[in-house]
Amino acid sequence: MVIGMGPAGATAAYELSRAGLAVLGLEKQLHPRYKVCGGGLSLRIDRILESDFKSVVEHTIYGVQFTYRGEEPFLIESSQPIAYMVMRDRFDHLLVEKARRAGTEVHEGEQALAFRQLSDAIEVTTDRGRYRAKVLIGADGANSVVAQRLFPARRLRRMPTLESEIGIGMMPPYPGEGKVLIDLGATAKGYAWIFPKHQRLSIGVAEFRGKTTSPKQIFDRFVREEKGLASFTVPHPAGHPLPLFSPRAVGLMEQPPFALVCGRALLVGDAGHLVDPLFGEGIYYAVRSGQIAAASVLGTFHDRRRSLMDYELAVRREIYPEFRIASRIARIVYSFPKLCHRLMHRYQEVINLYYDVLRGRHTYHSFFHEAKGIVKSSFRELLREALPFR
Ligand SMILES: Cc1cc2nc3c(=O)[nH]c(=O)nc-3n(C[C@H](O)[C@H](O)[C@H](O)COP(=O)(O)OP(=O)(O)OC[C@H]3O[C@@H](n4cnc5c(N)ncnc54)[C@H](O)[C@@H]3O)c2cc1C
Repeated sequence: MVIGMGPAGATAAYELSRAGLAVLGLEKQLHPRYKVCGGGLSLRIDRILESDFKSVVEHTIYGVQFTYRGEEPFLIESSQPIAYMVMRDRFDHLLVEKARRAGTEVHEGEQALAFRQLSDAIEVTTDRGRYRAKVLIGADGANSVVAQRLFPARRLRRMPTLESEIGIGMMPPYPGEGKVLIDLGATAKGYAWIFPKHQRLSIGVAEFRGKTTSPKQIFDRFVREEKGLASFTVPHPAGHPLPLFSPRAVGLMEQPPFALVCGRALLVGDAGHLVDPLFGEGIYYAVRSGQIAAASVLGTFHDRRRSLMDYELAVRREIYPEFRIASRIARIVYSFPKLCHRLMHRYQEVINLYYDVLRGRHTYHSFFHEAKGIVKSSFRELLREALPFR
């Protein structure tokens, strides 16, 4: 059984169904449903999703316009794409329909309420009935009830975010065709964004570290000060928590109780806090964790010696090391945002290298290593210029 049919749940359900398992997917809303989200998909999604999702891509992104509190703008463009923009109602609907076509029985408008681990199954009570499943995949997002009920030891932070959307009709998108805007100075330790969609702009703010006093004030100030939005009336934003990965919290969960597997239940996507702590990218990791979870479940059905812990171990191998480095970078960026904004301007090759992370050509690990090398050798050059006789 899969609880929640966002990208994580729909992907897990699709993979399990096409391998021949009987899968029931519960979704409390009706697809296509609105989801508060920037809808930015890094290009490396190409490596893990079949290409039919391109039918719902609204824009392809080739560059980022960086600003600091609306000032000091600079654009770093690339000749090759770095990301896609999607509206989550259409994107998620497409994934759910794929799962359905592969054989998943999808119950929409049905909310899971309670869970009980039994010796040979897991029992799920919903607002419509009661079910038993061999395995339960909790894909119910940032406010996951599966995590709350079956993983009570999890005490992980979720950051507040706000987002709104404006219709722009046939006007050219802002900040320009194929570009997104990121403002590192809009919040104390986070960023504000403008992501273009077909005839729309998604505008949001998120704090990534520390405490936020008033996200609404931050959002209003960003909208007020951002010159490109001057001619628009921006509707009241909607809030949604962002369950960022935290290396410290997850480090504590390497012994039982584990972070992602408990008895017959697994957590994927936002329910498992699988969100990149640098820029809040979660869709890629929702899809990927759904795939890894499905592979682990299938493993246990085919080979009795395998266990669901394979899923947790695979995430620790593939995703956590990347998130740990992203978290180190985030600590630097959000502690010294103004300095970092200026350094990004100066070391544009580092941003180009980061674009390769988004494309899947670099990992955070190889990026960090190379970026440090670029900055160090440039410092050495600066020193040589400043001290020519040494
Ligand atoms: C403001 C904001 C902007 C973001 N921008 C980006 C971005 O640009 N790019 C990016 O990659 N990520 C972004 N993210 C993160 C991204 O939205 C999430 O990481 C992603 O949606 C996770 O997918 P999921 O399938 O785990 O959860 P969700 O997409 O949240 O899906 C969970 C599903 O479970 C259902 N559900 C919940 N409870 C129950 C229940 N009890 N019973 C049945 N169904 C239930 C929900 O209705 C929902 O459909 C953003 C997040 C926020 C808040």
